[in-house]
Amino acid sequence: MELRARATGYAGMLDYDFVIEHIPGKDNIIADHLSHSRECFAVEAIEPSILAQIKAAQNKDEATIWEEWQQKGAIKGPDDVWRWNDVPIVPEVPELRRLIIDYAHRRHERQNTSVSNAKKMGFWSGQPNEVRAAVKRCPHSS
Ligand SMILES: [Zn+2]
Repeated sequence: MELRARATGYAGMLDYDFVIEHIPGKDNIIADHLSHSRECFAVEAIEPSILAQIKAAQNKDEATIWEEWQQKGAIKGPDDVWRWNDVPIVPEVPELRRLIIDYAHRRHERQNTSVSNAKKMGFWSGQPNEVRAAVKRCPHSS
């Protein structure tokens, strides 16, 4: 089952198509997501802008020494985003890291899956432990 819908003007900022996928054996979670739609939609709407937010954070970041990253093998791509092993490097901006963790765990998958989701979205040191801690704290995950 796949529900397609269109949300317009939610909170004055959303105008996008979204898909709610059926995840076998996890019907409860779908219902849970729907009942927590405000939270869920806020997270779903963020996806296209996460990379843009990482890029903005990199540009504003004065603590990171990109030359050091470069020496370790980081590459600034044609889109002006610094990446480490092809994954955007996320500066120490707690709200942004939190956002990535929440997005990585949006389907309430278990720790290892959420860790692997987060790894694809952005890199920072210590991320796996932060993701595991967030999954443990999540009231919707068993
Ligand atoms: Zn969860």
